[in-house]
Amino acid sequence: MQDSADRAFASASSSRRGTDEMRAVRKPAPHVLDLVSYDPKYIPAEVMVSANENPRDVPDGLRAMVMRAVRQVPLNRYPDPLANGLRDLIAQANGLDRDQVLIGNGGDELLLDTALAWGGPGRVFLNVPPTFSVYEGNALLTNTAVVEVPRRADFQVDEDALVARLSRGDVDFTILTSPNNPTGDTVSESFVRRVLEASDALVVVDEAYFEFSRKTVRPLLESYENLVILRTFSKAFSLAGVRVGYLLGNVRVLSEYKKVRQPYSVDAISQAIASAVYENRSEFVFGIEQIVAERERVYRQLKRMDGVEAFPSESNFILLRMADASAVWSGLLSCGVLVRDFSRTRYLENCLRVSIGTPQENDRFLEVLGDIVASGKSDGKR
Ligand SMILES: *Cc1c(COP(=O)(O)O)cnc(C)c1O
Repeated sequence: MQDSADRAFASASSSRRGTDEMRAVRKPAPHVLDLVSYDPKYIPAEVMVSANENPRDVPDGLRAMVMRAVRQVPLNRYPDPLANGLRDLIAQANGLDRDQVLIGNGGDELLLDTALAWGGPGRVFLNVPPTFSVYEGNALLTNTAVVEVPRRADFQVDEDALVARLSRGDVDFTILTSPNNPTGDTVSESFVRRVLEASDALVVVDEAYFEFSRKTVRPLLESYENLVILRTFSKAFSLAGVRVGYLLGNVRVLSEYKKVRQPYSVDAISQAIASAVYENRSEFVFGIEQIVAERERVYRQLKRMDGVEAFPSESNFILLRMADASAVWSGLLSCGVLVRDFSRTRYLENCLRVSIGTPQENDRFLEVLGDIVASGKSDGKR
C-alpha cells in the first residue's frame, strides 16, 4: 500500500515535470500518502436515497424566516466563534448550561476534533465496525492507533467483548453510534453505562439519528465525565447542506475540544440558519413521524422479497443484504434510484443501504428492487 502510493506520487510528479518543466513538490506526510479521500459516490439520480438526508427541504414558511435571518447577517464581520446564540438554544432544550454545548461545522468536524484532542501518536481509538467510516479515517489522519471489537454476525455490538477490551485500560477514546450507521441498531442505556464504567476512556455516543429512534443517553451526562453526545442538523432537520452539528458534554471535556477546533469553523450564515430552524424544530415532527412510519412500511415490504435480507432499523435508513449486491446497485441506478453501495466494504460484503425518502420515492425504490429481484439478476450467482 505504502509502496504503490509512493510510486503513484512519484510518477504523477515526474510526468508533470516531463511535460511542462514544472518543479515537483516533495511528498506529504507519510501517514497521509496512503489515505484514501472520502468519496460518498453521490451521483445525480431521480430518487436520491443514498445519503440519509431528509427527503424534504425545510418547510416553506420556515424557509422564509430562515432567509430573513440570513439577510440580517453582517458579512464583513467574523462570526461569533462559539455560536453562543445557538449554544444557548440547544443548552436550554437539553437542560444544560451553555458551556456544556459545543457547536461544530457539521458533526464531522466534531468527530475530527475528538481525534485531535483524544487521539494522536501513541494513543488508541477503539472502533466497533461496521460503522461510520469517518471515525477510522480521522484516526488514520491523526496517527492514532485503531483497535477493533467487530460487531457480531447480526451486526449487534458484542457487549461483553467491548467491555473486556476497554477494561484493559489502554484505550483513549471510543465511539458508540446509536442508531448505528449503516446497521440501524441502537445501544441500550444500561450497556452505555457499563462502557462508561469499564475505563476512563472518552466515550462518544453518536446520536446523529436520535430524532428517529427517540432514544438518548443524555441523562448519563450528570454521572459520567467521560461521556460526550454528538448530534447533527443534517438528518432530521433537513440541513445537510448547511453543516452544523453539536456536542453535549461536561465542561472540562468540552474545554479540551475548544483548544483543537478551528476558531471560526461555524460561519455566521450557518449559525443564523440553524438557530431559526432549531427554534422552530416542532415543524419537523410530522416529517420525522412520517419517515418512521415509512421505514416500517418499507421494512415489511423488503421482508417479503425473496433473496433480500433486511436488517431492522431505528433510524431513517435500512441495511440490506443480497447476492450480487453491486449488480443490484447498478440496476437500481439505471432505473434512477441511487442507494449506498457497501458491497465491497469490509464487514458489509453484499450490503446496500437505502435511506427512507418520501412515500413516492420509497414506492419507486421498492418497485425497481422488486423487479430486479424477480428477474433473477440477484439470484443467478448464489
Ligand atoms: C451523518 C452522520 C454524522 C454527522 O454528519 P454531519 O453532516 O457532518 O453533521 C455523524 N455521525 C453519523 C453516524 C452520521 O451518519
